[in-house]
Amino acid sequence: MNERTALVTGANKGIGKDIARLLAAEGFTVYVGSRDPGRGQRAVEEIGAGARLLVLDVTDPDGIAQAAAQVDRLDVLVNNAGISPSLAQPTDTGVEEYRRTYETNVFGVVAVTNAFLPALRRAPHPRIVNISSGTASLTWSTTPNPQFTPTSGAAAYRSSKAALNALTVLYAQALADDGFKVNALAPGLRATDLNPRAAAAGGDPAEAAQGALRLALLPDDSPTGGFFSWDGTPVPW
Ligand code: NDP
Repeated sequence: MNERTALVTGANKGIGKDIARLLAAEGFTVYVGSRDPGRGQRAVEEIGAGARLLVLDVTDPDGIAQAAAQVDRLDVLVNNAGISPSLAQPTDTGVEEYRRTYETNVFGVVAVTNAFLPALRRAPHPRIVNISSGTASLTWSTTPNPQFTPTSGAAAYRSSKAALNALTVLYAQALADDGFKVNALAPGLRATDLNPRAAAAGGDPAEAAQGALRLALLPDDSPTGGFFSWDGTPVPW
């Protein structure tokens, strides 16, 4: 069977659902990752042809193993599931909030990526797209720039995405000789349920999904271990 398959974690809504929709339109069989079967099934029906439900809570090791056992070959993994519990400053953020945020945004990505590596290795041109955030850029956080107003808020979230960026580089290096491309995407502020600021001030999630699709379809001579904005421009670490 030569059908191309993709998995998008947290694809029952928001940016992930739009990424799944684009991959399905591109001809992929798309596993719509959702920790809630009902919400996931609704997204599958909305996306239509090519979409399949994969119940997947990225913080549940047994569930991840069960999900991975259902997928033989995986061409594209989009680590999209993420949470942003608060916009609190580091001075107001306790260890528990970091732990909870990293559990999904960092450890979840590690657990899912490692579990699906055997299936990715069966694909001829495996691609991993990690949905990061421009707010994780240490350069943008410390230098005046048009993309992002430096602030010190959302400490747990932003440091979790900075860790995800580091892991993107490390996985890219570890898997470069095996033909993988592993890159991180800064989707830009999008109107989703992620946090109150995103819901109030964000742009169209579908636009960000185009950026993820581009990284999912990278040709073999493309970069690996990079950090890109939704429009394809490199983001400084
Ligand atoms: P949403 O809140 O709309 O979607 C987040 C998705 O992640 C939901 O499907 C949610 O599922 C899922 N999710 C959360 N925790 C888990 C878990 N433990 N296991 C599986 N799925 C989980 O937010 P966005 O679409 O905005 O976020 C998508 C990605 O984009 C995130 O990584 C986010 O950090 C990133 N991003 C978003 C920006 C924005 O402005 N919106 C800006 C920069 C980055 P459920 O419905 O069950 O909660």
